[in-house]
Amino acid sequence: MIISRQKEFKDILKAIEARDIFIIGCGKCATKQHVGGEPEVLEMKKKLIGSGKNVVGWAVLSSACNLSSWDEVLSQNPGIEKAEALLVMSCGGGVSIISALAERAVYPALDTESLGGVCRDEVVLEQCGLCGECDIQVFGGICPVGQCPKGMRNGPCGGAVEGKCEVDERKCVWDEIYERLKSLGRLEDIKHIHGPKDHSKRGRKN
Ligand code: SF4
Ligand code: SF4
Repeated sequence: MIISRQKEFKDILKAIEARDIFIIGCGKCATKQHVGGEPEVLEMKKKLIGSGKNVVGWAVLSSACNLSSWDEVLSQNPGIEKAEALLVMSCGGGVSIISALAERAVYPALDTESLGGVCRDEVVLEQCGLCGECDIQVFGGICPVGQCPKGMRNGPCGGAVEGKCEVDERKCVWDEIYERLKSLGRLEDIKHIHGPKDHSKRGRKN
């Protein structure tokens, strides 16, 4: 699951010059996280109208980053043709795909953060930092690149207080790595010094 959060409404408003706007939500990750499903799209519509914009329509696509046919989207949502701009409440993947197809200005309503997941029906944030060179097994299956705010591969940073990260409210991921390695009987592994990531492996290759 792609983890995104809503931008501040004032920033969305500042970015969009157009008056006639069609809002697109996403039925997958953004719906699950309550940042781009139907209730959030309707809330956005209300705020835009309250700010003097003309919302010509809205839709929640089944998956904004996985569109089988843009013509089908247009035939089901004729309001899109009347819009000067589309406001997309999905991850950056969905915004990019729609931008490539829509032939009009497309604006993101969300900021895309990381790759997370769902565990026992709960959304879990920042599980993976999309580094392109996965070695999560050496940390007992807990990724410090994705889960430590400083991306410390050789941690902890020394700032944790009673197991809490100094950056925010989360538990220090290195405490969790320690406990996990201990429970796996592999505590010796924590002494290993990890070299830097090969950043050339990140991103697309063709
Ligand atoms: S090591 Fe890289 S690919 Fe593996 S979980 Fe962490 S960030 Fe993601
Ligand atoms: S306290 Fe722990 S989780 Fe927070 S930045 Fe330092 S090493 Fe990372």
